[in-house]
Amino acid sequence: MEIVVAIKVVPDSQSIIVDPIKKTLNRSQAKSVINPPDRNGIELAISLKEKYGGTVTVITMGPPWAEDQLKEAISMGADNGILITDRYFAGADTYPTSLTVAKTVSKIKFDLVICGEETTDSSTAQVGPGVAEHLKIPQATFIHSLEYQPNEKKILAERLVEGGIEYLSIPLPAVVTASLNMNIVRAPTLKGRIRGKKAVIVKWGLKDIELPKEWVGLSGSPTKVREVKTEESEYREVTILSGSISEIVDNLYAVIEKVDLND
Ligand SMILES: Cc1cc2nc3c(=O)[nH]c(=O)nc-3n(C[C@H](O)[C@H](O)[C@H](O)COP(=O)(O)OP(=O)(O)OC[C@H]3O[C@@H](n4cnc5c(N)ncnc54)[C@H](O)[C@@H]3O)c2cc1C
Repeated sequence: MEIVVAIKVVPDSQSIIVDPIKKTLNRSQAKSVINPPDRNGIELAISLKEKYGGTVTVITMGPPWAEDQLKEAISMGADNGILITDRYFAGADTYPTSLTVAKTVSKIKFDLVICGEETTDSSTAQVGPGVAEHLKIPQATFIHSLEYQPNEKKILAERLVEGGIEYLSIPLPAVVTASLNMNIVRAPTLKGRIRGKKAVIVKWGLKDIELPKEWVGLSGSPTKVREVKTEESEYREVTILSGSISEIVDNLYAVIEKVDLND
C-alpha cells in the first residue's frame, strides 16, 4: 500500500513560556515538534506498511527547518520525506493549506492519505477533510482503528462518535484522520536514528506544486485576521483561609456573604 502522511510542525505546548510582561505566548522559545496526533498517523502508516508492504511518504508544508521533523518520521520507519516550502505558502489559512497538501499528494502515487485529527496550535480539524475534498476522494475523520482489506482494496475504519462507534467501509484511495492515542507510537531505534539523520529530504516549491501563486499562502486565504488583541486579566486578591475545617467553612461563608452578585 502506498501511504502519504501529512504532518504539521507545531510549538511544543510543554515548552511555551508566557511572557510575564506582555502576557503573550513566547512561541520563539518553544521547541518545534510533530503535531501529536500526526505521530499516531505515522505509527498507523508504518504498521500498515509492515503488514502489507508498500511505502510511507511523509509530507509537511512549513518553514525550511521543518525538515528535522520529517527526518524524525523517517527515523521511526517512514521511507521518504517531502518538505513543501516557499515564501508564497506563508500566511496560509486552512483553505490553501489543504489545497497545497492535496496538490502535493496528487503528484505522488498513493492509496491512502493519513492526517492527524487536528493540530495543537490552530485545532480547526479542517485540513484533512479539505485534502479529501480537493482530491475528490472519500474520507473518514477521527478514526481510532483501521483494517485494510487488500483483496477488495478497501479499508474498514472505526470512529468514536457520541454514544457509540461508527463503522465505515471505504474504497481506496481515501483520506483518514488519526485520533490522538489511537495507537502506541514507537520510539526510533538507533539504526532508525542514523537513517533519519542521513535522509535527504526532497524540497518542493510553488513551481513544483504547479498552483497559481494567488491560490496559495496569504493571498489564497479567505480568512482575514483584522486585529489580534491580548486579553488583559485583572489582578485578583487571594486570601488563604486557615484553621480547622469548621473555621475555614465559617470564614468562607462570611466571605461569600459579602460578595455583591451585581458586581
Ligand atoms: C481564524 C484563523 C486565522 C488564521 N490566520 C493565519 C495567518 O494569518 N497566518 C498563518 O500563518 N496561519 C494562520 N492560521 C493558521 C492556519 O490556518 C493553520 O495553521 C493551517 O491552515 C492548518 O490548520 P490547522 O492547524 O487548524 O490544522 P488542522 O486542520 O487542525 O490539522 C489537521 C491535520 O492536517 C494536517 N496538516 C495541517 N497543517 C498542515 C501542514 N502545514 N502541512 C501538512 N499537513 C498539515 C496534519 O495532519 C494535521 O494533523 C489561521 C487559523 C485560523 C483558524
